Amino acid sequence: MTDPSPAAPQPLFRTLAVIGPGLIGSSILRRARQDGTIAAELVACDVSPDVCRRVRDLDLADRVEQDALRAVADADCVILCVPVGAIATVGAMVLPAMKPGAILSEVGSTKQSIIGAIAPALRADIAFVPTHPMAGTEYSGPDAGFATLFDDRWCLLTPLEDTDPAAIATIETLWHRMGARTRIMDPAHHDRVCAIVSHLPHLLAFTICGTADDLADETRSEVLDFAASGFRDFTRIAASDPVMWRDIFLNNREALLEMLARFMEDAQAMARAIRWGDEAFIVDRIERGRHIRRSLLENRQA
Ligand code: NAP
Repeated sequence: MTDPSPAAPQPLFRTLAVIGPGLIGSSILRRARQDGTIAAELVACDVSPDVCRRVRDLDLADRVEQDALRAVADADCVILCVPVGAIATVGAMVLPAMKPGAILSEVGSTKQSIIGAIAPALRADIAFVPTHPMAGTEYSGPDAGFATLFDDRWCLLTPLEDTDPAAIATIETLWHRMGARTRIMDPAHHDRVCAIVSHLPHLLAFTICGTADDLADETRSEVLDFAASGFRDFTRIAASDPVMWRDIFLNNREALLEMLARFMEDAQAMARAIRWGDEAFIVDRIERGRHIRRSLLENRQA
């Protein structure tokens, strides 16, 4: 770890434990390793001995544990970076082993179902601060992470009504030091926003690749030979981890199905415009797309 300069702020935590050092978890560790103002000691924990070995080889943490209870025992902050479907289970398992006053956080891509599932295990003396860093790639595992993953990205925080404000402020500072911008949001609102900006696009990408595959006999070789940028961009999204996206879809079922229904209405309207040659409608929709792209570029989110 590089020593912070004399003027640099003190580390936020004495010990930070990351459970599940995959793409997101290992990116947090890499940034914390590089930065020095995040934690004096880094602990990584994974169920898989292969992942633990790889994290040791990559020197991503001061301590690597396969036993989650040992990993969290001394931690001032524990961040769960496991797939959405495992977050509440792993959280309920580690909570009794955490020290009073510590903070429990997680980075799952859905919020309401995780908060509901973990609620019975929460302790009054441990603040729970759910987060969702809006950053990622289609790759998984400890080799996929990188220290700059969160630079200029948003990290959404969805604390509970009774979450200690000091713990929320500490987790916001953590994400600022990760390079991210933060916004506090209601969990239900988070799930609707993410359904449209992230979950529906993944559903469409998996579906279009499946449709192309179903047409294999007629067109597959052409699809692969002549895949132009439109289809190629979908295949990048569709290369994402199946377990992760199964969990996200099932855990954000209602918001995702609502956004899909709205999308299908809008796609039907576009189909109708194409059928009847409604040029103004078609151009208007395409211009709205160009406008959104320009806004993303201006906000450095493209
Ligand atoms: P990932 O690369 O697959 O990493 C997840 C890690 O958790 C893997 O090393 C996995 O080990 C480990 N793990 C699974 N179950 C575990 C358990 N019970 N105890 C301890 N470790 C366990 O996934 P990721 O992309 O980093 O995603 C992690 C979380 O971040 C998910 O909740 C996801 O929704 C959220 N997220 C992802 C993105 C994204 O774009 N990827 C963006 C924002 C938030 P094995 O490989 O051995 O199973």
